[in-house]
Amino acid sequence: MAAVLKLYNTLTRERENFAPIDPSRVRLYVCGPTVYDFAHIGNARPLIVFDVLYRLLRELYGRKHVKYVRNITDVDDKINARAAERGISIRELTEGTNAVFQRDVSDLNCLPPDVQPRATDHISEMIGIVERLIANGHAYAADGHVLFDVPSMADYGKLSRRSLDDMVAGARVEVAPYKKGEMDFVLWKPSKEGEPGWDSPWGFGRPGWHLECSAMSHKHLGEVFDIHGGGIDLVFPHHENEIAQTRCAFGHDVMANVWMHNGFLQVEGEKMSKSLGNFVTIHELLHEEKFGGRAWKGEVLRLAMLRSHYRQPIDWTVKALEEAEKTLQRWYALLRDKKPAAGALAEAFVEALCDDLNTPGAISELHQLAKAGEADALLRAANLLGLLHDDPAAWDAKASADIDAAEVERLIEERLAARRAKNFAESDRLRDVLVGMGVKLMDAKNKQTGELETTWEVG
Ligand SMILES: [Zn+2]
Repeated sequence: MAAVLKLYNTLTRERENFAPIDPSRVRLYVCGPTVYDFAHIGNARPLIVFDVLYRLLRELYGRKHVKYVRNITDVDDKINARAAERGISIRELTEGTNAVFQRDVSDLNCLPPDVQPRATDHISEMIGIVERLIANGHAYAADGHVLFDVPSMADYGKLSRRSLDDMVAGARVEVAPYKKGEMDFVLWKPSKEGEPGWDSPWGFGRPGWHLECSAMSHKHLGEVFDIHGGGIDLVFPHHENEIAQTRCAFGHDVMANVWMHNGFLQVEGEKMSKSLGNFVTIHELLHEEKFGGRAWKGEVLRLAMLRSHYRQPIDWTVKALEEAEKTLQRWYALLRDKKPAAGALAEAFVEALCDDLNTPGAISELHQLAKAGEADALLRAANLLGLLHDDPAAWDAKASADIDAAEVERLIEERLAARRAKNFAESDRLRDVLVGMGVKLMDAKNKQTGELETTWEVG
């Protein structure tokens, strides 16, 4: 494939030809969820966008030559507060939230990353980085805390293009007495009794959020790697501070060569917020009749998301979901009629994707292929976007009329039994069989017994 991958780099504010440090080991890190609450639809955007990037890199460099790391933040003050609020243990909260998150991303048809490191498994690595930063003169301990000494880094602020003077002038927060400089940020802080904590050279405490990503990306991808991604809201302070920590600990000019950020998401023309009542989680979209009065397939969400270029803001509307659904129905109808084998990858489609992940352009190529009745090429290209993996029969409205309810119940029982036996391969297989029959499954925990229960409907 001759197409050259071009990516917009937030660090240089330019579109650049992508050249991996080692083409046999292309390395991608994306900031993952803080598991204190269900992921909302804004969180779904980086999941889907960077999944498409991951699939494209695998196509260009070979499956075995791409390593994708997306972390799980399971130590954070938001987690402590939420667990206390709900009267459950931190572990119960993070495990439960992570289980829902994993189900959400798989329903969105995102490939699992190669590694999903958890912050709490990397505490010793975090302590190691803090020790290096103190030894290098970039951090100091004070009053049970360790702080990053921001003025010690000459080019701090390079990613967000803010000068230290501007930042200090704009800061309205009261400065804690243990800080030397106003912008100095926490690497390590003391834990009170009852709060999660670990022994460290600075006493019993826990890491700051930024430090977690520096430790996990270093452990799994090295001191300098190819691409770091996340939402645009993470540029400052999170990514700026990750860069400061990693570069000052290991002494390189960059942490990652390319920094990619997806744009904001709003809902029906308004900023999404709990107070406006337009806050919608992935789980609600997929399983509840909340958005537009109905539940939606994960694939519909995915196509609706990819219709906008990842750097543009996106307006999440019922209308856009309906349009995406109609498109998928048309495409699946073509697959049903033609029963294609995956064909060659259309060049114009790959070129669009290589043009800084121009997914709207790639989707218009899919429309062209569908219009020309080229089912083989449509299937192959759509699969690269994580689309059209479903059984076309599941999209056949007529097929759902004659579902054998007794057979469905029997398969659901079998699936629950497989789950209890922790045979997840089998339970996933049975789920696919049921979905293929046109059945929509809804899993919920019985509040009294704590057992998982499944209800279903014709989907
Ligand atoms: Zn991060």
